[in-house]
Amino acid sequence: MNQIGRNVLVTGASRGIGRGIAVALAAAGHSVAVNCAGNLKAAEETVSICESVKQFDEQKFLIYKADISVKEDRSRMLKDAVNDFGEIHSLVNNAGIAPKNRTDLLQMSEDSLDDLLSVNLKGGFFLTQELSNIWLKQEPESSENRSIIFITSISAETVSLNRGDYCIAKAGLSMTVKLFARRLAEENISVFEVRPGIIMTDMTAGIKDKYEELINHGLVPQRRWGTPEDIGKAVNALVSDNFIYSTGSVINVDGGLHVPEL
Ligand code: NAP
Repeated sequence: MNQIGRNVLVTGASRGIGRGIAVALAAAGHSVAVNCAGNLKAAEETVSICESVKQFDEQKFLIYKADISVKEDRSRMLKDAVNDFGEIHSLVNNAGIAPKNRTDLLQMSEDSLDDLLSVNLKGGFFLTQELSNIWLKQEPESSENRSIIFITSISAETVSLNRGDYCIAKAGLSMTVKLFARRLAEENISVFEVRPGIIMTDMTAGIKDKYEELINHGLVPQRRWGTPEDIGKAVNALVSDNFIYSTGSVINVDGGLHVPEL
């Protein structure tokens, strides 16, 4: 296997950032296992866009419906994907949810925190654990590098008082990256954190006007929304071995939003 032609499982690839990642990988010559929670129509659209940009006839794009917060779903998806592709070389833990309601920290509910932790934190953690164990039992087919990428958020470090549940889950996911990076480094598996800022997707559609105004007033130094394509480019660079000596690194894709100014 050379630098191109990896088989990559992308969670939450039916829409938004996950779709942007799947399409960037397809355009670079990789095959993609497209996971979705239930929106098969959107997942099929992702597959048809991937087909339209692919480089090689051999590239495959297959859909796996699985709720990453459910153990049985995760195991079934991994088993099916390994069967269908022969081997999965990279995992992109992208699937995530926003809180149903934005509420002040003093009113935030236990149910909301449970939801956010099970999808945004536990889902990626245990999917990574299970795939890592599969990898460690296999004879590596070559000296190939494997990688795991977590899509966290500016919220891993930046406080939003009306969605503390989301911030807590993303901060935990950021620590998950460090833990797996150290645990898997000697196994030739690199683990990265990609930290998006404010990205135009369904997740931000409900608060588009508020973000629009903040961006226009200079909140984001590069003065524009981020796009799923911005994240796709960064993830493709990681999957395509452009950062093979950088495990545990955080890549900010946020137009400079994380840089504090006095
Ligand atoms: P989105 O447009 O709402 O898309 C969410 C994706 O995740 C969909 O493909 C959805 O599948 C999938 N998904 C949701 N729950 C799932 C579950 N339990 N199991 C499997 N798949 C599930 O969100 P997005 O904006 O692209 O966000 C993607 C990731 O980036 C999330 O982790 C989010 O926290 C993070 N992020 C987003 C922003 C932003 O500004 N948008 C900023 C920073 C970080 P269905 O289509 O089947 O529902």
